Amino acid sequence: MPSKRVLIVGGVAGGASCAARLRRLDERAEITVFERGPDVSFANCGLPYYVGGVIQDRQKLLVATPQRFRDWLRVEVRTRHEVQKIDRANRTVEVQDLQTGGTMTEPYDVLVLAPGAVPIRPPLPGIDLPGVFSVRNLEDADRIQAWIGSRHAQRAVVVGGGYIGLEMVENLSRRGLHVTVLELLDQVMPTMDPEMVAPVHAELRGRGVDLQLSNPVAAFEPAGLPSPSGSGVAGEGLTVVARNGRRLTADVVILAVGVRPETRLARESGLEIGSTGGIRVDDRMRTSDPAVYAVGDAVEVRDFVTGRPALSPLAGPANRQGRIAADAICGRDARFRGSQGTCVVGVFDLTLAMTGATEKTLQAAGIPYEKSYTHSPDHAGYYPGAEMMMIKLLYHPEDGRLLGAQAVGAAGVDKRVDVLAMAIQKGATVYDLEEAELCYAPQYGSAKDAVNMAGFVAGNVLRGDVDPVHWTEWKACRRAPTEGRAPTEGLAPTEGRAPAEGGAPAEGGSGGEMPLVVDVRSPAEVAAGAVPGTINIPLPVLRTRLGELPRDKEIWVHCGVGQRSYYAARILKQNGFKVRNLSGGMKTYKMQE
Ligand code: FAD
Repeated sequence: MPSKRVLIVGGVAGGASCAARLRRLDERAEITVFERGPDVSFANCGLPYYVGGVIQDRQKLLVATPQRFRDWLRVEVRTRHEVQKIDRANRTVEVQDLQTGGTMTEPYDVLVLAPGAVPIRPPLPGIDLPGVFSVRNLEDADRIQAWIGSRHAQRAVVVGGGYIGLEMVENLSRRGLHVTVLELLDQVMPTMDPEMVAPVHAELRGRGVDLQLSNPVAAFEPAGLPSPSGSGVAGEGLTVVARNGRRLTADVVILAVGVRPETRLARESGLEIGSTGGIRVDDRMRTSDPAVYAVGDAVEVRDFVTGRPALSPLAGPANRQGRIAADAICGRDARFRGSQGTCVVGVFDLTLAMTGATEKTLQAAGIPYEKSYTHSPDHAGYYPGAEMMMIKLLYHPEDGRLLGAQAVGAAGVDKRVDVLAMAIQKGATVYDLEEAELCYAPQYGSAKDAVNMAGFVAGNVLRGDVDPVHWTEWKACRRAPTEGRAPTEGLAPTEGRAPAEGGAPAEGGSGGEMPLVVDVRSPAEVAAGAVPGTINIPLPVLRTRLGELPRDKEIWVHCGVGQRSYYAARILKQNGFKVRNLSGGMKTYKMQE
């Protein structure tokens, strides 16, 4: 006699996790998984790398087979079975066998919805033409592989610069295709702050990718169609028309403009849907019907930092939620803590990762924050191969609680963001980062790790040791109406220009006056490139030249990455000057250009 009959809709990340955990907790439950596709528990995250040939053995993407579910877990898996309808009153589902066309009614005590998310296909002319693909499952990847192979495809257009789009760009390039990216926004990876993805733009372009920002797709046409100007290219393939009128010839198009929760079953059965469009669940993954649970990309989660409803279509949350639902079904007090949106993406030689809130989300939620930028090597600078990474921390300006972190670099980015993700989940502050005791040997890290450094810099700000200012404020100053103010007398601007076109600092500048910006790098560094309108007083001679600096106006200092300017700021502050440190130095300035 089974303890309960559990039906699970969807057999990949959330559904498969739930089934496996359920069995481990309840040997007597009768568990059946219905999966519309031919495979269960496959690695959708590996699909771009399968298309690119990095993963060559298709079998490797099948993490578990229906047979293994049967043999190891005594879980019944029915592939090519689609759940069509839920009858909540009678606790049954209607299932169609997609191979025979037959339908059956299956009763349940508990139903778990794990149907995932649907790739968005905007209603554009030609969107259904052959050769325009979305990437959701192994069959999609197989179709893309076959299409590229059979047509000897050479030109691809990837629509959308989110992480799936970027992974496809890298893998199509790896296969030798010339790739154009059409992105609606003025940045790729829209979940991150713009300055953090600037290096990705450079990396893509450096790799020969034609990155078209603020230029979304408008239509798809068979390539043989004449264009309005009569310049249509005859032959196979597609013409992708961008909003700016550019016409691109493509052998294959990948649509990666995002996903939306698959909620048809939930909606039609009257389950509550949240404001973001995901199925509404509580922290035990229960829907508005206590007999129905929902997990994964289909559900609305609570943003861990802002507390607001959010969608978080990522594999980690889906797997954890599947496990939590199983615990809850078996009477355990497991609760989902909310999603931090922790994610990582590799783009050629760069790694980009984030956790928690971005500036954009904090602003939208009206949460106050301070930010700091640090540039640190991934391991000891004296050990060969050290590579710099930039970390952006967002933290509460009063108590220093961490709100978000983003990082970009070549090596070690994932490790730092993982540490910061855990710190955020445990409610840590920037002071905790100063004290974090992390792995160190020269080839792995530094005695003062990149995470410690990020904590030191933020801690210095909160303790009042240094007042930060951001390049965005400098730029705002420069954009403000000109009053033709000259730099402080006796000091030549770095490039022989006035420090700015005038105007008051956006925030914090004293008395509406343009601050004096002092670059404390060496003359050789300055000669190699300087911020217009700044003056140069190298750090080693700063103490001897204090008399040249004004005491009645604010001085902003900067250097390469923010370390020497911090020293300079401390010298100036202790000598009675009004001084602020431009966060992250030239490196950060360049990322915001
Ligand atoms: P899915 O894993 O999508 O499974 C849902 C399943 O339900 C589907 O197989 C579907 O066929 C089935 N189904 C739907 N409706 C029915 C029905 N009515 N009856 C029967 N079956 C049904 N996340 C990361 O964190 N890191 C990554 O690197 C990453 N890379 C990705 C790369 C790609 C190309 C894709 C597509 C996704 C990637 N993701 C990544 C996202 C991650 O795969 C998803 O967040 C995760 O799989 C969601 O799990 P899920 O169980 O909610 O849905």
